Amino acid sequence: MPRPRVYLSPPHTFPIERELLLDAFDSNWVAPLGPHVDAFEREMAERLGVAHAAALSSGTGALHLALLLLGVGPGDEIPVSTLTFSATANAVTYCGARPVLVDATAASWTIDPALLAQEIEDAARRGRAPKAVIPVDLYGQCADYEPIRQVCARHGVAILEDAAEALGATYRGRPAGSQGDLAVLSFNGNKIITTSGGGMLLSDRKDWIDRARFLATQARDPAPHYQHSTIGYNYRMSNLLAALGRGQLRSLAERVAARRAHNAFYRAAFADLPGIDFMPVAPYGEWNGWLTCLTVDPAAFGADREAVRLALEAENIEARPVWKPMHLQPVFRELGCRVVGGAVSERLFDRGLCLPSGSSLAEQDRARVVEIVRASRR
Ligand SMILES: *Cc1c(COP(=O)(O)O)cnc(C)c1O
Repeated sequence: MPRPRVYLSPPHTFPIERELLLDAFDSNWVAPLGPHVDAFEREMAERLGVAHAAALSSGTGALHLALLLLGVGPGDEIPVSTLTFSATANAVTYCGARPVLVDATAASWTIDPALLAQEIEDAARRGRAPKAVIPVDLYGQCADYEPIRQVCARHGVAILEDAAEALGATYRGRPAGSQGDLAVLSFNGNKIITTSGGGMLLSDRKDWIDRARFLATQARDPAPHYQHSTIGYNYRMSNLLAALGRGQLRSLAERVAARRAHNAFYRAAFADLPGIDFMPVAPYGEWNGWLTCLTVDPAAFGADREAVRLALEAENIEARPVWKPMHLQPVFRELGCRVVGGAVSERLFDRGLCLPSGSSLAEQDRARVVEIVRASRR
């Protein structure tokens, strides 16, 4: 009998979430609006110190609406981190625009502020400063916003923060999700809190969030009949799922603590192994521990990343390569997206591995991961 699968980042639920979910059900607010949606938005905005929030059906939908609010459309080029999940770059194409794929820095694995600044300055010299940039708070670690803000302010470029993976992290004492002019969270099943599927758009600008709610509910003009002057979307979050999200949010601190404890455990357990390096924790903030990621130098370690991953897989343990950079993805190659740098993220993809990191990960499973990784050396 194979052992039960150990997942990378499975959902983790508590009784309070069941209670809130049943409350939503029993109230008959089984709709993409209702008191739990309003409360979830309020509670999240308060926690992150942002004035306004719209709960949506996904982080991807939130990215799409944010780009529409910023007026991004055909002919626009939007610099994004190439080392990310595809949704970041996909959302740009939904608007008819093209992502410009900017490399990561080895210091934090997030977008390289120097390369990004160079890209913005070059575009500005051509009279075409981008309308927005999308830094990604990768694996729960914020991008380096101070230098990004400086160059963006100089050229009137909006910052859209993709904080899908980073709820609970901070940058210079302020929460992920409060760094951009607009910010996006995800509550997908594998994220640090989940609504099974869902997302949120946050901003201090009320007009933007009001407009996002309007677009997300099919862009219905104020009229007794159904009237539309704009193309709308069906992107609102269900009241049932918002109830679940409110419950999950209450234990965010415990979730962060559990994931960071896994990271500390893995670091201590591999400290003596040559060729194993963890994703650096940048000095400018606190990460949320979403996924513990490391790189395997095959010459020094005695096995490559794939050998380690397959050894774990053989024991029914899920581990995954670090995100495959967008500039290596066939779809963005075919679109002819420009690439700025690329070698750092290529190397991280080549050598990087994400280990089981869920807040419900059992100590004995974590110990097995360590044992198997150690034994995978030749
Ligand atoms: C998960 C994720 C998204 C997409 O969020 P969904 O809620 O799954 O649509 C976007 N960007 C990044 C970096 C993500 O990890």
